[in-house]
Amino acid sequence: MQPFGYVEPRTRDEALRLAREHPDARFLAGGTTLVDLMKSGVMQPTLLIDVNRLPGLDAIGLTEDALAIGALARMSDVASHPGVREQAPGLSESLLVAASGQLRNMASIGGNLLQRTRCVYFRDRHFPCNKRVPGTGCSAIGGENRNLAVLGTSEHCIANYPGDFAVMLAALDGVVHLDGPSGARSVVAAGFHYLPGGTPEIETVVGAGEIVTGVTLPTGPLSRWSHYLKVRDRSSYEYASVSVAVAAEFAGDGTILDARLALGGLAAVPWRVAPAAALLAGRRPDDARALARLVEAALDGAHPQTGNAYKLPQARAAIGRALRTLADRHAEVRT
Ligand SMILES: Cc1cc2nc3c(=O)[nH]c(=O)nc-3n(C[C@H](O)[C@H](O)[C@H](O)COP(=O)(O)OP(=O)(O)OC[C@H]3O[C@@H](n4cnc5c(N)ncnc54)[C@H](O)[C@@H]3O)c2cc1C
Ligand code: SF4
Repeated sequence: MQPFGYVEPRTRDEALRLAREHPDARFLAGGTTLVDLMKSGVMQPTLLIDVNRLPGLDAIGLTEDALAIGALARMSDVASHPGVREQAPGLSESLLVAASGQLRNMASIGGNLLQRTRCVYFRDRHFPCNKRVPGTGCSAIGGENRNLAVLGTSEHCIANYPGDFAVMLAALDGVVHLDGPSGARSVVAAGFHYLPGGTPEIETVVGAGEIVTGVTLPTGPLSRWSHYLKVRDRSSYEYASVSVAVAAEFAGDGTILDARLALGGLAAVPWRVAPAAALLAGRRPDDARALARLVEAALDGAHPQTGNAYKLPQARAAIGRALRTLADRHAEVRT
């Protein structure tokens, strides 16, 4: 590990000033991604700006129609927060199936959004990797790609975004809030991460010296009927091969009035399926033709690699299962 400095600012202004003055600095939250990558030499910041003492960034707040989560709120605190569990159960589920209890106690929401791909070549400096060193090539194309992306890939990178929370946040019309050299701004969660294109090293909208301050999402029938299903090789402490974030508003007889869908594990971004609302509105959750059209729209343009074609049937099954689970939960409450 190369030597680095460490500072612990007490105000956001001070943190932003330090970031502006040290372009190679990185913000440190829980450290569960950053420290790993520093140990392996993949990330080499010259200065760590520990943001854990910045006031107000760990709050979790509810208003009548929105939920606000500070960037420094810990995954475990958000998952177990009564307001989150009641107003956006899918968000709580997405956190509870992530990582391990110990990691969730350390890891922050901001860091979770900004975690890096688990592509083995990205994490091993002995292999060419366009994301780690632009222009060197992609070892995963034709190599070990079992858990990588099938949607939105490019000839330069087929890595996937491994997180869970961001997928549910994108499905629920969430917004990510930032502050930085040009002031505060907000971006929709579904647009926070970038597809690789020709610049896989640029992964998110976060600019130089910008800090994530928190996320918000509207609460209402959609968020209250939300569900996150994660499919993985083992049932704990494992990343998703496929995940499904679904939310639906139901009529009294169980017909779907409105819906949201996003998929995880399949792309470098949470894969939001925009046509879900139009394809499911007015349909019953067990309408096989509507489900078939939804699955077709969700996986349109998929380009599996040598080792990950299995993700397509897995995703088809998972979308149906997630929707059925949500509908069953709603039916239970109706009866
Ligand atoms: C073994 C293991 C298993 C895991 N399994 C899962 C899983 O199944 N699902 C899942 O979703 N995640 C999983 N994770 C990832 C884990 O959730 C992330 O490591 C964690 O959420 C990162 O948060 P952190 O606070 O520790 O971030 P840090 O490591 O402190 O930071 C991560 C990155 O974000 C930047 N950063 C942090 N906070 C801010 C901020 N406020 N503004 C701007 N930049 C910031 C840092 O500079 C760094 O680049 C796993 C991790 C490990 C180690
Ligand atoms: S898939 Fe992306 S991260 Fe993995 S080796 Fe290729 S360029 Fe690097």
